Amino acid sequence: MTAPGRKPVEEICSDLIRFDTSNPGSHERAAAEYVATHLSDSGLDPLVYEQLPRRTNVVARWPGRDPSLPALLVQGHLDTVPADRAAWSVDPHSGEIADGHVWGRGAVDMKNAVAMTLSAVDAMVTAGRRPNRDIVLAFLADEETGGRHGAGFLVERHRELFDGCQAAIGEVGGFNVTPPRDRTVFAISVADKGLRWYEVRERGIAGHGSMIAEDNPIPKLAATVRRLVSADQPLAVTEPMRALASRLAGHEVDDPDEVHTLLATTTGPFARMLVAGIRNTVNVTRTGAGYKENVIPGNAWARFDCRFVPGHEDAIDDHIRTGLGDSATATLLRRSPAAWTDHDGEWFDRMTDALCDVLPGSEAAPFVFSGGTDNKWFRQLGMQTFGFTPMLLPPGYDYPAMFHGVDERCPVDALRFGVDVLTGLMSR
Ligand SMILES: [Zn+2]
Repeated sequence: MTAPGRKPVEEICSDLIRFDTSNPGSHERAAAEYVATHLSDSGLDPLVYEQLPRRTNVVARWPGRDPSLPALLVQGHLDTVPADRAAWSVDPHSGEIADGHVWGRGAVDMKNAVAMTLSAVDAMVTAGRRPNRDIVLAFLADEETGGRHGAGFLVERHRELFDGCQAAIGEVGGFNVTPPRDRTVFAISVADKGLRWYEVRERGIAGHGSMIAEDNPIPKLAATVRRLVSADQPLAVTEPMRALASRLAGHEVDDPDEVHTLLATTTGPFARMLVAGIRNTVNVTRTGAGYKENVIPGNAWARFDCRFVPGHEDAIDDHIRTGLGDSATATLLRRSPAAWTDHDGEWFDRMTDALCDVLPGSEAAPFVFSGGTDNKWFRQLGMQTFGFTPMLLPPGYDYPAMFHGVDERCPVDALRFGVDVLTGLMSR
């Protein structure tokens, strides 16, 4: 067979998109087999692990020249969120390469990074270069519904796979948050916000829709929802975000309001991701009540996706509790911890150096990612975890909108840039 390693990165990305790995709805096995074959053809020895049938994880350890050096984990997930075909202008599983982009579900989250990693391995193998240190490559199932059958399963049941790994890189970060220019600022995630999902419920009195309603729970719920989401949460500026703002300003910035202004006004489409890194967020995402037009329902509910800045979890609970009013009740449906890594250290410097080698004059700064990733699992093993899937994005390209978005697509040039940076980092 033709070694897949000969393929350019955009074609690998396109191949991966053509495997429907929607989660929920499908499985990762075919994509995992593709990845395992690719690694085998490059001379590595991939192993596959399944906790549930067809929910496949692939792990390979690439032995370095100096086994005494701490190892690096490079991890990415193979699953994607589902896509609504009717809303897209292309088939979301076509992997079409057009207009300088690879199109399809996963093009940004995160088959792009999986393809870049495979391509970086190819580049090193083709150049006859072996890594200095052990590199552990992990391609994971199930991230999009929390990672229990992917990273969680491997961390809990096969932790020996990660022996010696001091640091891990994965999503989300490593992209430029200012347009490419003399001083291009790349943001590397050092923390994930934590998650609390709440259901809020109002009860009332069911009855006939034609009569004067005694106690309709829907208007009560509407008022409660408005109370819970209307006010911005207070600023919670942490050290990484202060460092990012200082980098953007070109001088030391300390004042939280100034941090906010810089993030909101100098980072283009990244503003709504980055500003969410300096305050807790409370978003209502689902509601439900009733079953027929002429029946007043007995209860109504709304669900909230709440994310907290590391160290600010209690403030979310206080906010929900005080916003409930007299009649509503709240139930915590799900909780996920925040992840945190100190950003001043040699791994951050290595990533910065790898960026500068490819784009001289690049500057890197840490940030707190607004969402959650598999980093929360690898933190349990004591690893320093970073969001680093390096890409040089063109001006005006709305990268944050691509995550779970319609017409998800990734610039081919950004993929090629990422391969060069990852090759440099994995060689260090
Ligand atoms: Zn992802």
